Amino acid sequence: KYCLFCWDGGALYECSICPRTVCVNCVVIPAEFRERVEHPDVHFVCPGCHEMRGKASGSNTMSPYFGFEDHNGTPVLTDPATIHGHIEMPSRSQISSNPILVLHFVLTSLDPLGSPAAIMQHKLRPYRPKDSLQFHEIIFDIGTDEKAERHAESMEILVGRLKLLEYERVEIFVYTHSEVERGDIWGGYEDDELVGRGRAKFFAALFVGGIEEYVRGATLWVLICGHTVRQPDSFKLLQTCVKEYEVEHAFTFDAVLFHACLTIPFVVIYVRRVLVEGFEVQEVMHDLLQACPRLAMHSSIIHIHNTTAFRRRYPTLIEYHQGVKPIPTTTGSMTVSTYTYFHDSNRPFGNTLPYQCSHCKCVRSWKHVASDHNPLNERKFICKSCCYAVTYTKPEQSKIIPSSQGQKSRHAPVSGWLMSVTIEPCMSESVVV
Ligand SMILES: [Zn+2]
Ligand SMILES: [Zn+2]
Ligand SMILES: [Zn+2]
Ligand SMILES: [Zn+2]
Repeated sequence: KYCLFCWDGGALYECSICPRTVCVNCVVIPAEFRERVEHPDVHFVCPGCHEMRGKASGSNTMSPYFGFEDHNGTPVLTDPATIHGHIEMPSRSQISSNPILVLHFVLTSLDPLGSPAAIMQHKLRPYRPKDSLQFHEIIFDIGTDEKAERHAESMEILVGRLKLLEYERVEIFVYTHSEVERGDIWGGYEDDELVGRGRAKFFAALFVGGIEEYVRGATLWVLICGHTVRQPDSFKLLQTCVKEYEVEHAFTFDAVLFHACLTIPFVVIYVRRVLVEGFEVQEVMHDLLQACPRLAMHSSIIHIHNTTAFRRRYPTLIEYHQGVKPIPTTTGSMTVSTYTYFHDSNRPFGNTLPYQCSHCKCVRSWKHVASDHNPLNERKFICKSCCYAVTYTKPEQSKIIPSSQGQKSRHAPVSGWLMSVTIEPCMSESVVV
């Protein structure tokens, strides 16, 4: 556990309402009360909960912070407590140090060095006591039945070692390639040839030997070239796997020649906002997008959220305060959101402008001009050399998320993300009482 203010350990007061803790150097108690506040009848209320309680009561009046109270809610201290340090985070965040498991599945021929998974464990290290962060790299080859069997055996051995801890979060990275035509995920080699395991069999052969138990409620990072996403059948199958294995969140990308290293800034912000501060992915999606301009130029980001998946972590702060219930922004059982970067002058509605004019063959000759009949939903470009024109129209039913720079404009945002969402409705439960 770490102090909400100074991010340090040491002697801590634990909040009686939420999982946060504050250290004795940051909330200072007069010497004569030090013994009194340790009494089992005295409850500590962290500054965050104090603030939230004030807001929840609906009154606009603020009240001084005493920190400790008895079972009637009467302050124990005669004078308000003094808070040292300043808060660097919103009052809803917490610093979690509960056990995390990071599994990195790497296709045998790929180099795992400097991978997003390795960076994740590196970034988590300072916040985790030594044994509450486990990182395992699994170099796999399940190209033949024989190899798949050997993989299953090594998974059993790994699971034997994992049993000791109850992980609050499991982060699973799958780093491989996919087949161009069918979008199958490559499982390994057969006679030096890359082979898939057949569409449906990849995850079934990878998550075996008991490791599938850890996939439940995990976040799955599918770092493969975009064929799997672009091919509707294989993408559908990926979603089915997310559902069947009860993965909570999955991220994947649609760039045909995908560079996994470009996801690193995205992963770094994910570590801070989601794994350390305890926010829900969907609450901080904007921060995650904002963090990686280079990735945005390279690939769309696809986020699959399985809202009815198994939950392995403790309720987050907002759930402590509002009672555990599904996040109100999601109504269905599975949400697939695709975020595609756009910029009015070079990425019209997420499309890449052709490098060369198809008419006169000049390069980079495009000039953005106002569209004559539909300036809101149409972007028009003309070739400065031959006046050949191309137009792009806004895809239907996509929402626009402005980027920070885009927001500054008084008009429609010039840059940001097009967000298209498909929601799978919840199974209607016919409960008769
Ligand atoms: Zn502190
Ligand atoms: Zn609290
Ligand atoms: Zn590839
Ligand atoms: Zn031209």
